[in-house]
Amino acid sequence: MAGEAKTILAYSENPDTLFELLSEARELAGKIQGEAAAVLLGEKVEANLEELGAYGASKVYIVENPQLKGFQVEAYTDALYGVAEQVKPELILIGATKRGKELAPRLAQRLKTGCVAECVGFEVADGEIQMKRIVYAGKVSSLQKVKGKPAVATVPPRLFEKRKAEGKAEAVSLQVEVKAPKAEILEVKPKEVSGVRIEEAEVVVCGGRGIKSKEDFKLLGELAEILGGQVGCSRPIAADRGWFTEWVGLSGKKVKPTLYFAVGVSGAIQHVAGIRGSKIVVAINKDPEAPIFADADYGIVGDLYKVLPALIESLKKHLKKG
Ligand SMILES: Cc1cc2nc3c(=O)[nH]c(=O)nc-3n(C[C@H](O)[C@H](O)[C@H](O)COP(=O)(O)OP(=O)(O)OC[C@H]3O[C@@H](n4cnc5c(N)ncnc54)[C@H](O)[C@@H]3O)c2cc1C
Repeated sequence: MAGEAKTILAYSENPDTLFELLSEARELAGKIQGEAAAVLLGEKVEANLEELGAYGASKVYIVENPQLKGFQVEAYTDALYGVAEQVKPELILIGATKRGKELAPRLAQRLKTGCVAECVGFEVADGEIQMKRIVYAGKVSSLQKVKGKPAVATVPPRLFEKRKAEGKAEAVSLQVEVKAPKAEILEVKPKEVSGVRIEEAEVVVCGGRGIKSKEDFKLLGELAEILGGQVGCSRPIAADRGWFTEWVGLSGKKVKPTLYFAVGVSGAIQHVAGIRGSKIVVAINKDPEAPIFADADYGIVGDLYKVLPALIESLKKHLKKG
């Protein structure tokens, strides 16, 4: 298969993430006169060629193997390595899900190549693909190139839009060696999640140390409920005060809502690193010099205990009218 069109392979176990990767891969492939292809792995695989084609895949490489029942990183690394050895792609894009983050560096190591983690964009210079990454908690963006081929890159879910277009995918079944993993999965229990996960929420109302008590988070809950959103918090609220188990930011959850409220949050770079994907940021803070205002689209300077009730009342009134 080597020597044919330059291929950008896309893999994610999450179908939406795979569609996002393919949409980007198609655009990138156009710049190197190549093609985008998807990889599907599993014990049994059902390939929706029409949909995969519409999102950008010219080919869909399928590996079916009994060792791919359930996710075992060694087996999935074997399978992807086998695909890469046969297809000889330029670049392998892997969704930066929990599984993808385990898989990508292992695959790069097996291929004796480099892995660029959490890419936020791609550029082509002199026919070479370069990867853009945000570093130093968002202070700087860095352009990186992998010496050797293929390059492996992970891409955060929901970074790129899914873009459908005309296109047809051809299925190609591959036989690859997949060794039996050293561990056996005895039981899989789905995690109980109440409501939408904060990473997927369209509206996030995030509270910081400006909130005096856990009880007061009810105010944020009320605003979130009106807007159909989720409540989040800054790290000290979870890690120091223990009012929540998770937080938003560099060391916490990365959120990408349409609307993000930072309420009594100062806007430390480690916090802002987790909200960069937000479309509109509204900051409520009593300190006009708070750094969060530099990253906000709308800023309200005032005491959150006065601003929030007024905002909630006004929204209730207007939404009732609508
Ligand atoms: C390695 C590392 C990783 C980190 N990762 C994260 C991370 O992932 N996420 C994260 O959030 N932090 C993280 N931090 C911590 C970060 O540096 C900040 O300390 C933290 O974000 C500050 O939280 P805050 O904004 O809630 O509190 P503060 O900085 O104390 O800010 C509170 C704000 O509330 C305002 N305020 C107070 N009262 C009111 C009121 N009545 N009305 C309106 N405004 C009011 C104040 O003006 C102030 O701006 C990390 C730190 C390190 C060193």
